[in-house]
Amino acid sequence: MMVRSDRFVIVGGGPTGHAAADAYRKAGGEAEVFLLSTDTEPPYERPPLSKEFLRGEVGEDALPLEQPGFYREHGIELALDDPVIALDTEKHTVSTASGRTVSYGHCLLATGAEPVRPKLPGAHHPAVLTLRSAASGRELRSAAKNARSAVIAGAGFIGCEAAISLSRLGLQVTLLCPDELPQYRRLGAAGGRKLLHWLKSEGVSVLTGTRLLGVDEGYRVRTELVPMLDTGLVLLATGIQPRFELAERAGIAVSNGRVCADEHMRTSAAGVLAAGDVAFAYNAAAARPLAVEHWDDALRMGEIAGRTAAGVRDEWRTPPGFRSLLGDRGLKFAAWGDGFDDAELVQHDDEAFTIWYRREGAVVGVLTHDADEDYERGSAKLSA
Ligand SMILES: Cc1cc2nc3c(=O)[nH]c(=O)nc-3n(C[C@H](O)[C@H](O)[C@H](O)COP(=O)(O)OP(=O)(O)OC[C@H]3O[C@@H](n4cnc5c(N)ncnc54)[C@H](O)[C@@H]3O)c2cc1C
Repeated sequence: MMVRSDRFVIVGGGPTGHAAADAYRKAGGEAEVFLLSTDTEPPYERPPLSKEFLRGEVGEDALPLEQPGFYREHGIELALDDPVIALDTEKHTVSTASGRTVSYGHCLLATGAEPVRPKLPGAHHPAVLTLRSAASGRELRSAAKNARSAVIAGAGFIGCEAAISLSRLGLQVTLLCPDELPQYRRLGAAGGRKLLHWLKSEGVSVLTGTRLLGVDEGYRVRTELVPMLDTGLVLLATGIQPRFELAERAGIAVSNGRVCADEHMRTSAAGVLAAGDVAFAYNAAAARPLAVEHWDDALRMGEIAGRTAAGVRDEWRTPPGFRSLLGDRGLKFAAWGDGFDDAELVQHDDEAFTIWYRREGAVVGVLTHDADEDYERGSAKLSA
């Protein structure tokens, strides 16, 4: 007979997993904490990988989320480089690739997401880069040292940030933007025009309305507009795919390619929680589940999961938001993220601006550059 443990097992060593372990201890959770990760290193910062780290302005020491010794001191056991391959919700166990079986009282799925490689000729070649892990960040940084030009497919935040960083490193950068403006669907025309202006002012050549069609041997990139671009570096920034398969195979409810969770991060299986990029969690203020892919939300959702596992009541109700740094220009965005029907640009002094997003007259998002008061006001309106 299997003896059930009260161990808190965390699957995933990103910000969500890290925040959950920390919050569990801070909330007085006393059971063993076991954090399993596919990563080969303890939890680290991802945001600098497309920004200061890529440009060489900060080094390796800027990446770890905690000082060495933190996990030992807090009784958090790390099991790195050992992917969890199965979850048994009846027996309350997870099994890993190395053959380990670990029983849990609570299990948090914090498996995040991985970059999507479009199904195009050449896109799966290992020399065609993506950016998510620290290892991929190092690979991109070293590829940039040996290249004079780069083509980046995808004008989401990672694509835009990496384009500016590579341009600042002296590479001739072409950014393929499938829409008429960068991030047109997320930020609307006004936001897209701001981004386009910033990218151009940083020396990035932006091909709007242009999709990648494939990558030939020798880094020749085929696109819709320009038949052939010769380059030394290709980066795919073509979106991410949440890693929800573990949950789906275990029979846990999944929707929109993410793991369903309530506002306390509880899934449909007893004792199993999900949070961060992989989750489709219910936001109590929005009164609907939301898909978010932002650092601060990953930390907050992880914190809630850790507290729930420790038996302390907490719920997700803050509006999702991210900060981006495009060269030296900061952007702050808070929004429910599931659509707007009106976007009003308010231009302040110099370059500062605010864009208010509304749906049926109600504020559903705010984007600011150097307008922190508006950002605070907008965030407060969202959660009111
Ligand atoms: C280059 C870059 C820059 C970014 N910049 C910003 C920014 O400026 N602002 C912002 O808001 N957001 C930014 N983001 C997004 C932000 O990093 C993510 O939203 C956040 O990392 C999500 O955290 P997570 O813990 O849910 O998932 P992840 O960070 O993806 O972590 C998932 C973890 O789970 C592990 N894992 C996966 N499957 C398994 C398995 N089967 N078994 C065990 N472990 C597993 C992985 O190895 C990883 O450790 C950026 C992302 C990238 C890649």
